[in-house]
Amino acid sequence: MKTTGRCYCGSLKYEIDGQAEAAFQCHCRECQYITGGNPNIVMVFPKNAFRYVDGNPKKFARADLETPVTRHFCEKCGTAMGTESPARPNSMIVKVGTLDDPSAFSAQAAIFTCDIQPFHHLPDGLPVFEKRPPKK
Ligand SMILES: [Zn+2]
Ligand SMILES: [Zn+2]
Repeated sequence: MKTTGRCYCGSLKYEIDGQAEAAFQCHCRECQYITGGNPNIVMVFPKNAFRYVDGNPKKFARADLETPVTRHFCEKCGTAMGTESPARPNSMIVKVGTLDDPSAFSAQAAIFTCDIQPFHHLPDGLPVFEKRPPKK
């Protein structure tokens, strides 16, 4: 299965050859900066299945955190593309808003609800984890 996506301006394009390992909505405080306030909607793919086919992302990791994630974004339009996380070293965490077909997303769980805001939406019946879900 091939999944494709891009940034807002189209300078960055990517392809993913493989199935998603997981699909989350993340309510953590850090994600709220990136999304504009709502939960971050992400799908997790094997890192070796993900590649940029156009452009190179800028990468950012906070120097003041012990185990920061590395955020990919477009240097022209600022779209946040996804994240590499030390917690999932073999995965690429892709922001669903950058998929050519975001409707491919269906949440498996809500994570980091320790930071949930009163205006965040939790679908009925969705498994909820205060931090990360236990590793399978
Ligand atoms: Zn762009
Ligand atoms: Zn988060």
